[in-house]
Amino acid sequence: MTREPDTIFELSRPGRRSWSLPEAPFDVEPVPSEFARRDAPKLPEVSEGGLIRHFTQLSERNFAIDNAFYPLGSCTMKYNPKVQDELAALSGFRDLHPDQPLADIQGALELLWTFERDLCEITGMTAATFCPAAGAHGEITALLMWRKHFANDRSRDTVIIPDSAHGTNPASVRLAGFKVAEVPSGPDGQVDVDALKGLLGPHVVGLMITNPNTLGVFEQRIDEITKFVHDAGGFAYCDGANLNALVGRALPGDMGFDVVHINLHKTFSTPHGGGGPGAGPLCVDEALEPYLPVPRVKRLDDGTFAWDHDHASTIGPVHSFGGNFAVVVRAYAYLRRLGLDGLRRVSGMAVLNANYVKKKVDARYRVPYSEGTMHEFVASGDFLRKFGGVRTFDVAKALLDHGFHAPTVYFPLTVREALMVEPTETESKETLDAFAQALLEIAEQAEAGHADELRSAPHTLPVSRLDEARAARQLKLRA
Ligand SMILES: *Cc1c(COP(=O)(O)O)cnc(C)c1O
Repeated sequence: MTREPDTIFELSRPGRRSWSLPEAPFDVEPVPSEFARRDAPKLPEVSEGGLIRHFTQLSERNFAIDNAFYPLGSCTMKYNPKVQDELAALSGFRDLHPDQPLADIQGALELLWTFERDLCEITGMTAATFCPAAGAHGEITALLMWRKHFANDRSRDTVIIPDSAHGTNPASVRLAGFKVAEVPSGPDGQVDVDALKGLLGPHVVGLMITNPNTLGVFEQRIDEITKFVHDAGGFAYCDGANLNALVGRALPGDMGFDVVHINLHKTFSTPHGGGGPGAGPLCVDEALEPYLPVPRVKRLDDGTFAWDHDHASTIGPVHSFGGNFAVVVRAYAYLRRLGLDGLRRVSGMAVLNANYVKKKVDARYRVPYSEGTMHEFVASGDFLRKFGGVRTFDVAKALLDHGFHAPTVYFPLTVREALMVEPTETESKETLDAFAQALLEIAEQAEAGHADELRSAPHTLPVSRLDEARAARQLKLRA
């Protein structure tokens, strides 16, 4: 096993320096003694080259989409074009303050206004906001808008969510003060429409659903589903995290949805960024437009643009100004480069790649809901248990030794020992072949009686099995 790297303190040698400064050509006033520290700071002492190597090596220990294949299902870890970073860093975008005189920020406002129109065209909606900073933030924003709409009808207190839903959906519902009612999936992995009808009534605020659903399967009866929800007086929310499968081809508006969020860090190729700035713009139909958060961008009669801070029925602000603007600029650049034709190719290739990998692995890994796979598929590692108790978790760890990030595991909950793979449209055939091959080799390893090796993987990384919850909550940032 590879040794854990030395910390910068272990590399330290007394007197070693990574800098040199000329003698000051003037007298330096010493720090007054009451403020001066008594002991020298315990800083590491390293050479310039040693310093650079240390931090560069550390940075290379992070797995990132720029290092290798990252097939996380339901996350769309697609490439992050560097040209977009350059554009977002243009002084005319980067150095603005949103409260500068309107004449200074016309370009930025026009970008927001134009992109809003584009997203409406892509989703079949009438208006959009860029304020939400993530998909989950878009969800709660929409729920607050529903809440405002039903302010005089508190008997409507329930939101229906399929059993395969992403965890943020029920969490957002509870945060907005509503109750969750779960609708089961049928044997084909799609919403059980009869069960849905049984749950509808005058207490229902709406339904939240992703399409294709988290099994990567298109909901064939989506028209009926949204119609039944509307007939009961509720709204239909499209969790747009899976838009990579539809973009340029099918409109959530045509499926009967009233509102959809888009994860710019998924479909629109902006960085996922370690919890950093993101954007989950929310697109809505006419019925919900009055409730959109402020500020919005409006175009004045003379063709110039301005902030609109006092939209009559708004739920108020959910973010400072117009959201995480630099992220929006990156996504806008992506859209302009591709155009609608390019987006059509994105969804076509995303679906082709997912089906290609599925076909390659399904001789061993069972894919229980395999009919109508779109941009991702969910395989089951359950068959491995009979080979020395190997689990999907072990497969995920063993993939690291093959140089791949693990797919999403144990989600959705409707598949046992789930392995959820989303290749995305930008990966080459060679990468997809190598990934499928790695999955098959891991299965063969288990079948050949090497369960112990799998259960102790990874073997090639500086650390092996961590207590994952503790590692995430109690970061070890110092020696
Ligand atoms: C990623 C995802 C979300 C949440 O989006 P964030 O931008 O991570 O907050 C919601 N639903 C589904 C289906 C997702 O895949």
